[in-house]
Order: sequence, then C-alpha cells, then structure tokens
Amino acid sequence: MNVLVVNAGSSSLKYQLFDTSNDTVVAKGLCDRIGIDGTLEHKRLADGKVYSAQVKMDNHSQALKYLVEALLDKDHGCVSSMSDIEAIGHRVVHGGAYFSESVLVTEDVLAKLELCRDLAPLHTGAHIMGIQGCLDVMPNTPQVLVFDTAFHQTMPKEAYMYALDYDVYEKYAVRRYGAHGTSHRYVAGEMLKLLDKPVEETKIITCHLGNGSSISAVKGGKVIDTSMGFTPLAGVMMGTRCGDMDPAIVPFLMQKLDLNPDEVNTYMNKKCGFLGISGVSSDCRDIEAAIAQGNERAALSIKMLGYQIRKYIGSYTAAMDGVDAIVFTAGIGENTASVRAEALRNLSYFGIEFDEEVNAATKGRSGVTKLSTENSKVAIYMIPTNEELVIARDTEAIVKAL
Ligand code: AMP
Repeated sequence: MNVLVVNAGSSSLKYQLFDTSNDTVVAKGLCDRIGIDGTLEHKRLADGKVYSAQVKMDNHSQALKYLVEALLDKDHGCVSSMSDIEAIGHRVVHGGAYFSESVLVTEDVLAKLELCRDLAPLHTGAHIMGIQGCLDVMPNTPQVLVFDTAFHQTMPKEAYMYALDYDVYEKYAVRRYGAHGTSHRYVAGEMLKLLDKPVEETKIITCHLGNGSSISAVKGGKVIDTSMGFTPLAGVMMGTRCGDMDPAIVPFLMQKLDLNPDEVNTYMNKKCGFLGISGVSSDCRDIEAAIAQGNERAALSIKMLGYQIRKYIGSYTAAMDGVDAIVFTAGIGENTASVRAEALRNLSYFGIEFDEEVNAATKGRSGVTKLSTENSKVAIYMIPTNEELVIARDTEAIVKAL
C-alpha cells in the first residue's frame, strides 16, 4: 500500500511516501514557510531526483496541493494518479488520555483531538490544519492519526499521577503523558525480536536521546513509566530544555529574572540544557567539538546527561524488578558514544557491561549494533529509530481492515 506519512508543524509540513509492501520510502520532502512565502523540497528516492521550488503557500491546504502535484509530476513524481496514494498517516504529538492507539479520522476523533488542544496548543493546531488540508485536497483518502503519547497510555496510575491536589488532575487533566511514544514503541519492538524470551517476561529500558530526550520502562511489551511528563520539558536535560528540577526554582526565577509565566516557560524550554550549561550550543556535535578544545562546561554537560540517564536506568530497573535490555536511539542515542558511555558507567551492580571499543565505533549508520559484552547480564543495543515506518504500518493496518 502507498501511504503518505505527514508530520504537520505550524509553518511546515514534512512528508514521506511509503510503499508498505517492502517498507521503503518512495519519495520525501518538506513544505516550509507555510503562511510566509513558501518553499517545497521534494526528493524521489529511486533515482535521487530532487525538485525544489518557491511556491506561495497561504495555508496547509495549499501546501498539500503542491505536495500532491510533486508526487504526480511526470519529471520528478512517483505515482501516476491521486488514487495511488491509498492512505494518509499523521504524526500527532498529543492524544491526551483519549487515544491509547492509532485511529481512523472521523468526526468523533476530530472532536476529541480538539479537546487535546490545551495540552499541546501549537502542535495540535498544526496537526488539525494538516488533517484539514488533506481533507480539502484528497477528500476520499482515508486518514489515520498516530499519537506520540499513545504507547505510554499503559502506565499505571501510580506512575502517571503527580502528588498535586486531586482536583487539579480531575479538572485540568494534569498528569504524566510522556512523549516520543512511537519511537519507544519501534525500538522496543525491534529489541523484543532480539530477546529470546516470551514478551510477557521481558523488561526493556528504551533511551530516546535527541534534541528532545525521554526514557521509558517497557515491561511485558507495555510502558509502565516514562521520563517525560505533563509536557516534554520533564525528564533528563536536553538540547535547550532543563528537564527535571526542584519546582520551587520556577517562582524563584520568575522573581529574580522578572519573568512572567510565558517567559519562564520559554526560558526553561529554549535557554537551558546543553545550551545553558555549556554556553556553546544545543547540538551535541558542537559540544563534542568544544570538549576537544578543552571546554570544561561542555564536558560537564555530557557528564550531567550521562549521570541523569544512569539514574533513570537504576530507577526503572527497580520499577520493573529487573532489566533484560537497554536500547539507545535517536540523534544522540545513535551517534554520540560519549553520552552512551557516561550513561552505562558504574552499573556493575546490575551486571551491566558494555564494550568500550564497539561503543566508540557505533553510529546510527552502523545499523542495529550490540554494545554489551558477552559477560553482561543485560543486553545493550543501539537501534536506529523509524517513527515514520510505524506510522505507515499502523495506517496500512487500520485502512486494510475497513
Ligand atoms: P534528533 O532530535 O534525534 O534529530 O537528534 C539531534 C541530536 O543528535 C543533536 O544534538 C545532534 O548533535 C545529535 N547528533 C550527534 N551525531 C549526529 C549525527 N551524526 N547525525 C544527527 N544527529 C547527531
């Protein structure tokens, strides 16, 4: 089945056309600067043919119109008619407590998605524009929503509740939701295939470490805890996000730095993490380059992240009463050996042992790589993530069952 995977942002729309019969990407691209001026970057994978254009895109519907034209084009396209695009799968950042799995777009689903707006206003607004755009341009093509939060909906209440006044949970749905669920689900699924155990008996810790990072405890194939919380600010430190800290720091900073609620939120999301600690950059590659030049704050930032991940590994091992496997994925998890090494040090009590040389040589392009030694009680793997493939597969499964 040809499935168009759409990731709609407020002024951009990324896409990949999948052929699910062999899990390959046929074409991919980006509509950018929607509502500003508009650019389209499109690539056909079979021969690497690239098409780029400046095209005025006032809204997501217009962006989708150009995108479909690019897919149909005789010169750089890859399908011969609109009906060859058999289904559309959307990445959706927040499904609140309404969605625990992927769903077909219906009026009822759209009404529920509206209720999630409060939880991720910018993202949800953009997704709704993307869905509406597809309805305008391809009204007869079934659409499926795949939620970043869905995989985490299996958490027990003691893991997702905050110790706030219970009314706040009931009135405003303030609880842990988690993020990157599609990535955690993909790598946990790949890890399950490598473990020689019945799924119900497995205990896996998945570390999605990228610009945004989250760590999950997956027991018996289901998430029982995850590090991101009510929003993607929680958990380990990230590129520009602070991660977990004493909540009393928030009002303290508001007073000291004279910040209002929006400003302090922006501060915690944009000025902290690697950027704040190193003073160099939010990008791990720049941090590593600065360390090579002797920058101590850059070195501290890597040590901090490694230490925080290690503490999550310890607490999730306790939460699951053991661990069979630890998986690293996403930009940093796949490529940054120093972070993986810092995260895996001093875990000998758990029987965790990794091969320093293999770890140092492992990059995302190496493909699935075992990092643990033969003596290690716990399997340690780097598994490149593939969220788009999960979206394409879910979409195909739901549409085929119609
Ligand atoms: P992501 O959000 O998954 O794209 O991850 C972005 C982070 O991964 C940035 O901090 C990058 O510096 C880091 N990273 C390190 N090496 C690479 C690489 N070879 N390719 C992409 N990202 C990398």
